[in-house]
Amino acid sequence: MKAITIVPKVKGSLSVRDVDKPMINSNEVLVKVVEVGMDGTDKEIGEGLYGEAPEGSEFLIIGHEAIGIVDEVGSNVKDFKKGDIVVATVRRPDNCINCINGESDMCLTGNYTERGIKGAHGYMTEYYKDVPDFLVKIPDAIKNVGVMLEPFSITEKAISQIFAIQKRMIWKPQTAVVLGTGSIGLFGAMQLRLRGIDVFSVDRSDPSSIKKEIYDAFGIKHINSSEKGLDALPKEIGKNIDIIIEATGNPDSVKASLEIIGINGVDCLLSVTGGTSMKDIDIAKLGYDLVLNNKIVFGSVNSNRGHFEMGVEDMIKIQEEYENILEKLITRFPISDFKSYEILDDKSRIKNVFVM
Ligand SMILES: [Zn+2]
Repeated sequence: MKAITIVPKVKGSLSVRDVDKPMINSNEVLVKVVEVGMDGTDKEIGEGLYGEAPEGSEFLIIGHEAIGIVDEVGSNVKDFKKGDIVVATVRRPDNCINCINGESDMCLTGNYTERGIKGAHGYMTEYYKDVPDFLVKIPDAIKNVGVMLEPFSITEKAISQIFAIQKRMIWKPQTAVVLGTGSIGLFGAMQLRLRGIDVFSVDRSDPSSIKKEIYDAFGIKHINSSEKGLDALPKEIGKNIDIIIEATGNPDSVKASLEIIGINGVDCLLSVTGGTSMKDIDIAKLGYDLVLNNKIVFGSVNSNRGHFEMGVEDMIKIQEEYENILEKLITRFPISDFKSYEILDDKSRIKNVFVM
């Protein structure tokens, strides 16, 4: 069968290879891949900045956001049957206490693998196999948008962590700021709105028609920060900022997020801040402010099965209440169009999806 591969750390190594179709054992499930989404991590892998082949392989099959159909089940597999629609999680556990307990997203050793990213083949191929623990069933109601469940689960994790952390007090959050309006920023904003929180979605441009439609449908307020700057946000919003999700990875935005959290607020950094960036930060002022106002800053990465399941619930709600609005985020291409990573460069598209 065909697989889309790269040689890790080699820019321009994208190629189609013939690989063996996986053979399942009695505990495994064979999945026929239907669609694969691409994100910033894929771009970094394409640029040779990131990615690791499985042990013993010189190449990596890419793709970590995929929806597929169960094609065959092992004789010991109880919960899946041929024809089920599934999305697989990405990370595969090491043997630390968190991994053993189903929370490989909180791995202590860093020796996990990630399918399509780090040490394990991904899903941009005709078939993959896995064990049921890592497969999440997709109900019919969300089958046309389920390809986005993996990135959707990233913000589900972030928000559930925010609420878990804030159990440290009586907390009734009213106002959230989401920095960045890529797919992660938009998902975070939508999920916070489902929880009844006022959301200010911030970036440095006027919204595209698709984004505007989402803001209008969900009652999200958009702020274009290009003129007044991020420092002006607290004044502009005029309310205590209870929650920040930083989803740009831009150093200026990360710095601003640290400085504008409200009293008792929480700032979740959700995007990798690339490169090096020397910024003047007044540590005394920042420390003083964090201490006297009980503020929290934390990072969140990846997601586990539970967050995928939360994502399924929220996607169903959105599909029911907002008339299939999620699908408008997707631009689909036939896989034959994926000849170079440049196809991902058009910033006007929100989620690029390849139909296998
Ligand atoms: Zn671990």
